[in-house]
Amino acid sequence: MTAAAPKSPLIGVLALQGAYDAHVRALTTLGATPRLIRVPAELDALDGLILPGGESTTMLRFLDRNGFFEILQSYVKSTPTFGTCAGAILLAAHVEAPAQRSLAALDITVQRNAYGRQIDSSILTAPTALPGPPLEMVFIRAPRITRTGPSVETLATRDGFPTLVRSGHILAATFHPELSADHRVHQLFLTLVRQHHADFAHKSH
Ligand code: GLN
Repeated sequence: MTAAAPKSPLIGVLALQGAYDAHVRALTTLGATPRLIRVPAELDALDGLILPGGESTTMLRFLDRNGFFEILQSYVKSTPTFGTCAGAILLAAHVEAPAQRSLAALDITVQRNAYGRQIDSSILTAPTALPGPPLEMVFIRAPRITRTGPSVETLATRDGFPTLVRSGHILAATFHPELSADHRVHQLFLTLVRQHHADFAHKSH
């Protein structure tokens, strides 16, 4: 890890399965340097990590190889990490419908596929805590955050349930911000990454 705030932060995108390409494009647009992550060794020296959407059960199966699950579990404890949709499910402390293992890095409970078959994919544009106009949120077989712990800040909601949450160096969205042209959520993550590294540099002097 570099002590100075990186100019073009190196951001890993877990690329075992799912919607990782669009994250790479969003990061590139914002001036970050993306790196696809397929094996644990590729986590080396990242400034931040994105866990994309896809199918969390399938991702867990891939993570069972090479001790990747355990490595990731300890990695996300100290590295700024952003989980979208299935990625948010992986980060959650508790997963329901059905219950499954998770990295437990973020004190939330999620219910998988909570919006049912009829509206399993939808787009909502709504005001959020982010500066600027209402935000487009693309939901695809999205989970619902049914509980947030005291450390968790809610930045956007749908029908009263949180859709974008932050706790310390962890950010999670139940929607797919990488599929919208508006990159404010990725921008927020990069700000969080810079802040984390600035704090780290401050503490080590
Ligand atoms: N339904 C998926 C899951 O449970 C998440 C969907 C998504 O990432 N778009 O893992």
